Amino acid sequence: MSLQTKVELGRRGLMSILSSPSGAGKTTLSRRLLEKYQSAPAHEAIVMSVSVTTRPMRPGEVDGRDYFFMSPAKFQDMAHKNQLLEYARVFDHQYGTPAAFVRDHIVKGIDVLFDIDWQGTRQLAEENRADLISVFILPPSLEELERRLRERAQDSEETVKKRMEKAKAEISHWREYDYVLINQDLDHTLQKIDVILKAERLKRVRQEGLPSFVAEL
Ligand code: 5GP
Repeated sequence: MSLQTKVELGRRGLMSILSSPSGAGKTTLSRRLLEKYQSAPAHEAIVMSVSVTTRPMRPGEVDGRDYFFMSPAKFQDMAHKNQLLEYARVFDHQYGTPAAFVRDHIVKGIDVLFDIDWQGTRQLAEENRADLISVFILPPSLEELERRLRERAQDSEETVKKRMEKAKAEISHWREYDYVLINQDLDHTLQKIDVILKAERLKRVRQEGLPSFVAEL
């Protein structure tokens, strides 16, 4: 092979999970990551897995972008037909990851990003350990988390209290994650996630084209 030839090895897409309590910055981080990789070359592309949920739409949310909003009956139907890779009940509502979208992208070598909770992370890790990395985002403090939840001003006082309780429960699962980041500064956290993704993509087992490349050296 001439030195001028650009070497591009095939690889499987990575399933990257970002979990955190609500208000720790995960949604903003996912959006920023997607924007960052939008203009990246095809082998660095990332797409977001859009979950299905039975929870009502919040102001500003868009069906098909933030979630696919659906009735409990439709959700059950998808679950029974094995169309969900994982699903769980969070805050009195059902959430699940549509399977087809994820499979289609992973086999093409396109990374998929997930914003799911610890229950979903556990289920995905059981089935897809080799393709999966999980990152837990911690808030700098519980006070800061509460401040961010109130700032969002979309939830009632009772909901904020409930979410703070849930946040503590979610945080108790931090040890189950491959990486744990304290989100003090959004830009720094984004840089760290970027480094993690880049290193994980370079792992030997993920570079499926390596054996044939080496054989032909
Ligand atoms: P929210 O209602 O604030 O959008 O999300 C509530 C929680 O549900 C978040 O912690 C989010 O990560 C989690 N979640 C969203 N989609 C899914 C999913 O498809 N599966 C699981 N297991 N959790 C999800």
